[in-house]
Amino acid sequence: MNSRCAHRIGFGNDVHRLAAGRKLILGGVHVPFERGPVGHSDGDALAHAVCDALLGAAALGDIGRHFPDTSPEWHNAPSLTFLRRARELLDAAGYRIANIDSTISLERPKLAPFIPGMREKMAEALGIPTEQVSIKAKTGEGVDAVGKGDAIRADAVVLIEPLAAAFPPPKRGHTLSV
Ligand SMILES: [Zn+2]
Repeated sequence: MNSRCAHRIGFGNDVHRLAAGRKLILGGVHVPFERGPVGHSDGDALAHAVCDALLGAAALGDIGRHFPDTSPEWHNAPSLTFLRRARELLDAAGYRIANIDSTISLERPKLAPFIPGMREKMAEALGIPTEQVSIKAKTGEGVDAVGKGDAIRADAVVLIEPLAAAFPPPKRGHTLSV
């Protein structure tokens, strides 16, 4: 009997400081605002949190390991690229994405009008139906760095499952018993 648990959960979060003159990109969507995240890439906190959750679910490390901020390759890189790459790594490890849930914490602006576009872009980058990507938004209630408008935060959880239940994912030292 295969003792592996079929489903695996992953968690990711990300925080970026906000500064004037930076573009606010979330889930690959440009949200018009006077401040944006400071970061080596485009600072897309939502994409970064989801990427970390995907890598974490398969115990493949974290975003810093796969996309080091010391590498010029990732300077101002669109973070949807990270999601595409994470999907490839999951494929190679023998997993597919069951669903993603996430929350963006940002004091301003209101994100509701942009969420459908974010869901579409992230789902497209990950090669999964939009229905499998949930994005929620909330404010910081005036407290902490988010509440004071100085930072953006994103949290994400994902569930992954083996590509084929009959054939456990490779690379785990698993031997089939007959
Ligand atoms: Zn980030």
